[in-house]
Amino acid sequence: MTLFEKIIAREIPADIVYEDDQALVFKDIAPQAPTHLLVIPKKPIPRVGEAGAEDQALLGHLLLVAGKVAEDLGIRSTDKGFRLVINHGANGGEAVPHLHIHLLAGRKLEWPPG
Ligand code: 5GP
Repeated sequence: MTLFEKIIAREIPADIVYEDDQALVFKDIAPQAPTHLLVIPKKPIPRVGEAGAEDQALLGHLLLVAGKVAEDLGIRSTDKGFRLVINHGANGGEAVPHLHIHLLAGRKLEWPPG
């Protein structure tokens, strides 16, 4: 069982800000911006490149959840804004093998990323 599956199962505590039947959103334990959330599927897909055609609706749902949470936090307006990041594998910076979308906001983020 991965760390994030344990969070879904409430075996490890997390600061959960949104939940539905397919997705969970919680605060990152080491925030890289004033707002740093992780949007994860409850289905244990290891990483985005290993999602299958059967996951198409779920992947879309996760993006819609990110947008909804951004709206709820008051950061969806384009004068504020946010960034979504998915890390895949070693060069991508992936540390936890359970698909997650980082939602970062609250400061001006640099581009290109480091
Ligand atoms: P990755 O590097 O895999 O894209 O991102 C994994 C993220 O999970 C990191 O930003 C890290 O801070 C976060 N993380 C690792 N362990 C925990 C934990 O136990 N609880 C929470 N809430 N976040 C965690």
